[in-house]
Amino acid sequence: MVAIAAHSDVWAAAASKPCVNFRNLKPTHISATTRTRPTPARSMLQSRFTMSFIHEDFLLSTKAARRLYHEYAEDQPILDYHCHIPPQDVAANRRFRNLFEIWLEGDHYKWRAMRTNGVDEAYCTGNVPPEEKFRAWARTVPHTLRNPLYHWTHLELKRYFGIDELLDESSAQRIWDRAGELLATDELSVHGILAKFKVRAVCTTDDPTDDLAPHQAIAASGLATRVFPAFRPDKALNVHLPEAFNAWVARLEAASNSSIGSYQAFVDALKKRHDFFHSLGCRLSDHGIEHAYADFCPDAEAAAIFDRARAGHAAAPQEQTRFASNLMLLFGQWNAEKGWTQQLHLGARRNNNTRRMRSLGADTGFDSIGDWPQADALGTYLDRLDQAGSLPKIVLYNLNPADNYVLATMIGCFQDSSAAGKIQFGSGWWFLDQKEAMTWQLNALSSCGLLSRFVGMLTDSRSFMSYPRHEYFRRVLCNLLGRDMESGEIPDCGELVGPMVRNICYGNASRFLGLGV
Ligand SMILES: [Zn+2]
Repeated sequence: MVAIAAHSDVWAAAASKPCVNFRNLKPTHISATTRTRPTPARSMLQSRFTMSFIHEDFLLSTKAARRLYHEYAEDQPILDYHCHIPPQDVAANRRFRNLFEIWLEGDHYKWRAMRTNGVDEAYCTGNVPPEEKFRAWARTVPHTLRNPLYHWTHLELKRYFGIDELLDESSAQRIWDRAGELLATDELSVHGILAKFKVRAVCTTDDPTDDLAPHQAIAASGLATRVFPAFRPDKALNVHLPEAFNAWVARLEAASNSSIGSYQAFVDALKKRHDFFHSLGCRLSDHGIEHAYADFCPDAEAAAIFDRARAGHAAAPQEQTRFASNLMLLFGQWNAEKGWTQQLHLGARRNNNTRRMRSLGADTGFDSIGDWPQADALGTYLDRLDQAGSLPKIVLYNLNPADNYVLATMIGCFQDSSAAGKIQFGSGWWFLDQKEAMTWQLNALSSCGLLSRFVGMLTDSRSFMSYPRHEYFRRVLCNLLGRDMESGEIPDCGELVGPMVRNICYGNASRFLGLGV
């Protein structure tokens, strides 16, 4: 309790300064924390029955951090501008029959932990009954201490089901039963969840060939949460995989109601879909690429590469790069014309394990951080768009923390008065979507750019159980700023820091993205 007393002294000293927005607030959060924090001597078994692991000041290590979070961050709505939830589940107001359906199905983060814990694949992706898979997960959870899964698991159980118990083999049955009861209520239908977490808007991730019928149904339903598509044309770049590419072009022909016999017809069909997405409120594109493409070629060369792929001949690596460079330039131009924001997810090395790829397919937990050089191609790509006067708003997501300062400095080269923070260094994603790496990203952005203009967090999730990730990010953000306030590195002034927190939680993204929310 020594640390708390010391912080109280700091706070009392700060309260005598003229600029202290928190001066008149009662220290309720502090006393609650002091009351419930266990002494080191208290055993794990005791503490699980006498306190919550996820208490109201979870991750908030200073008094200033607690005040920032509770007064400025906690109540902000959510704008989840990049995720992978199925729009058809929103349109249908899906109800989940059990904890497996809403929580474990398709979750490759959990599968990786279970495999690492020696669990048989049958309990991850196999045909074992759902409840047994959940039990295998419950047995694994105590082994995930210090992995973000341990935090996320208990934060999610608390926020969705009010469950304070630690998940392990002994609590699995109670937690399964209790969650099952609550999942049958309206509050935990998809619409109930979106309302419960104050989700103002969601941007899904959609292929240009998707018909977007669920989005039209949602828009017509009057659902309070706005659900927008986002344009993700990654498959348009795959001239090195002619079989898959041609199957995809056939779908593009159907979606665009056009015949694609040439490169120009291909580009026209993509543009038609871009226009259609815009008509349904889409204001973002997204691109999952290892590195930027910036080896541009004449249109005639791109057309020749296209024709060969259509005839079944795989493009060589350099040809694919040149073809992709031209298309990415077009996407950037179209995005700039329409005022969209372009997102680049850079640096994932996918499907590292051939044996597992063959037996389980993609997106099953065998991807890692890659280490491609990012600066040259990214700088060249952004510069080419900028020179043409067609640089859209950009969010760069980086998967390799070694490149944090590359991106944090690159964004500063292309800012202009068309939008504050026009080029963004996006939130830590995937393997960097946790406390330590979020802090790295926030520090690099603060040191080289303007944290105050940051558009903040997104879930990037396939699950409806992920909205507490915004809470997690907000706690990390407030903890970082609160420590700076108490150490004197930034003014201990709620009126200065608090509105910045609020903006990073919601306001910046709301103004920046132009979604009308
Ligand atoms: Zn994503």
